[in-house]
Amino acid sequence: MSLSLIPIIGLEVHFELKTATKMFCRCSADHFHRSPNTQLCPVCLGLPGALPMPNQRAIEMTILTAMAFGARLNKHFIFERKNYFYPDLPKGYQISQHQLPIGRGGAVRILFDGQFKDIPLHDIHLEEDTAKLEHHAASAWIDFNRSGVPLVEIVSQPVIRSPSEAKAYVKRIHQVVRWLGISDGDMEKGSMRLEANISLAPQLRNGQEPKLPDYRVEVKNLNSFRFVEKALNYEIHRQTEILQKGRQPKQETRGFDVKKGITFLQRSKEVAKDYRYFPDPDIPPFDLQDKDLGRLRRQLPVLPWQEEEEYLKNYHLKWQMVKTLVENEKARHFWHEILSKGKLPKSSLPKIANIIINKPDQWQGMTPLMFLRGLERQREGRIETGELDKIIGQVVDKEKKAVDDYRRGKTNALGYLMGQIMRLTKGRADAQETQKRLKSWLGGNDD
Ligand SMILES: [Zn+2]
Repeated sequence: MSLSLIPIIGLEVHFELKTATKMFCRCSADHFHRSPNTQLCPVCLGLPGALPMPNQRAIEMTILTAMAFGARLNKHFIFERKNYFYPDLPKGYQISQHQLPIGRGGAVRILFDGQFKDIPLHDIHLEEDTAKLEHHAASAWIDFNRSGVPLVEIVSQPVIRSPSEAKAYVKRIHQVVRWLGISDGDMEKGSMRLEANISLAPQLRNGQEPKLPDYRVEVKNLNSFRFVEKALNYEIHRQTEILQKGRQPKQETRGFDVKKGITFLQRSKEVAKDYRYFPDPDIPPFDLQDKDLGRLRRQLPVLPWQEEEEYLKNYHLKWQMVKTLVENEKARHFWHEILSKGKLPKSSLPKIANIIINKPDQWQGMTPLMFLRGLERQREGRIETGELDKIIGQVVDKEKKAVDDYRRGKTNALGYLMGQIMRLTKGRADAQETQKRLKSWLGGNDD
């Protein structure tokens, strides 16, 4: 008998903030491609007695993130110690947030399958990154340059229902942090990292939300949008097979093998972790002021789903088109420039959007005005070759000096002649075609 199963997916997304200095000290936070262990001090090394000094800008960036996703702000928030032992954390605890994080709740709004869907969040909190471990054959090296870099974690509710939805969710967070200018969100470099929790539950008939299963599998090392989707698809396949044999998948942590496209066991018998969180006695609680929150709220840019809504509603573009246009930074920038030139008939916008998305060779390297003129020319219809030749003939007859100059090797005379021809054709001729014809008309210069 085959069961009808539904995936229960939750994601934890981490991203490093683009601050100048680390979270609790003044060491540089820019740690990529730096010589190992060159950006350190007693605070980020976790030496006894070193006192943390919170980074104001990192707190503001986290507040902006919480505002963008509509989370409830805890005006009174604290930092806590999350206790665990691992070599990347020499002081034995990570400074993080637990009881009173900066943001609680909120949602990530994705445009998925033609409609907007809100993925509710558990919380948005700020913590310090750990050192980086590099594993070698018989040893592990530790680079502390990353230790103490401000790190935001966004924790979703377990309400994501498919691997492609998970991918859309991660892409959306990536997009928002880049629009906010608070992180480069580079998954390859590791400045954005994520873990997925996935289990499968029997689908309920009356459309009710499925009950959370009493196991869950955590998948780590997912460092691209594509891998998130692949790893989750693999897990669905793997867990379905186990469940259909009447057994229950084990609660465990798995890694993702990029080459084989499969997940593999890292640690089994995961139990609820006891981190013994408690307020960090070295960091006083924070109380946010309304005037500061107002100032930050004014810094919020237009958010991706707001722009998408506008294009869907006012410009009648198809949703996939809107999604691509808003997602692709170069295309979006060019599209904005085109729109800012104004006076475009609304009916021409879907066509323009289509060219920008699907035919980049028709606009890359062009100014918006050149592009619009080109479209205009297409609308009026191209000039016939017979007429073009006639105009070229006229110009060559008339501009004897320029023709002589060109034949004596002054190549910039060609530009002048081209200009005259383009003026007479009122821009209806293709520049490349015209130049080819003009050259063959003038002849004899190439050898
Ligand atoms: Zn430091």
